[in-house]
Amino acid sequence: MSEAEGIIVKLYANTYEVISGGEIYKCKLGGRLKLLDAKVTKPVSVGDIVQFEPPSNKDGEGLIFAAKQRKSKLSRCDPADAKREQIVVANADFVIVCQSFDSPPLNLFEIDRCILMGLSGECKIAIVVNKVDLASPAAGESLEIYRQLGYPVIFTSALKGDGIEEVRNLLAGRLSVLLGPSGVGKTSMINRLRPDLNLKTKKVSEKTGRGKHTTTVSILDIGDAMVVDTPGMEFFSIWGVDASDLQFYFEEFKKAGECRFNNCSHLEEPGCAVLEAVKQGKIGRRSHQDFAEGTPRHLR
Ligand code: GDP
Ligand code: ZN
Repeated sequence: MSEAEGIIVKLYANTYEVISGGEIYKCKLGGRLKLLDAKVTKPVSVGDIVQFEPPSNKDGEGLIFAAKQRKSKLSRCDPADAKREQIVVANADFVIVCQSFDSPPLNLFEIDRCILMGLSGECKIAIVVNKVDLASPAAGESLEIYRQLGYPVIFTSALKGDGIEEVRNLLAGRLSVLLGPSGVGKTSMINRLRPDLNLKTKKVSEKTGRGKHTTTVSILDIGDAMVVDTPGMEFFSIWGVDASDLQFYFEEFKKAGECRFNNCSHLEEPGCAVLEAVKQGKIGRRSHQDFAEGTPRHLR
């Protein structure tokens, strides 16, 4: 039996496309990987490094029989069965949280959710806000808090070209996932970065519906970087984070220091470190309010 190592670059139905030595092989799952784990929809995903048995002829299918341990994973609850984990992308370095000015309008709550999803899977975070050509001069101010938290924030216009080289530098040499609602310009951004891909963009009004469960996720090579667009990912429930853990994913809360109460709700306990930090302005009121009002909403 010959065997090879490669990376899953595309996944649709039960076919996994694996790139190895510059060639792409269509593969199915074999061996132990085929055993169904009730907790996960598919045991390996795009971005996973796998061992496989290449097909014996060009039109045949290979068999994936093992996967390397991953350094990160971006997961959601399977839209078809919320009790199961759907690994969207494995081994991504960065989650690029994508939003736009004006059309659709900036949504800070969704930014927080995407950050949460990325952090919970051990990915680094950056924020790209597109359509800066449509923005009023003060429109970016509400994003300052993310810069203060240490996340890169880049304003771009995929239409006019602003900020694109900054994005290119951020992505260089890495695998990054573009995550955000449909219509913000993720596809347009990829086209800007690598025009010959010529991907099809949509009008903002042609949004995909909530009912869309099957998505083809693929890794695109944009020269010196790899990016994954995530069509159909605009609705997701975060996998593997309990409401009680949520506070640990808010950078601001972390900076407040450890609360001396074990089961503190951070809402009314006298002497609570988080409340003290809110009082001193170290935690933005919006964050705390979101936390207070919306803890389960974040996980949705
Ligand atoms: P996606 O769903 O996030 O991949 O968004 P698309 O790339 O398909 O873009 C959605 C719509 O926004 C298209 O009509 C694009 O032409 C438009 N669009 C993309 N980037 C920009 C931009 O920087 N400025 C403006 N004004 N429109 C943009
Ligand atoms: Zn507390």
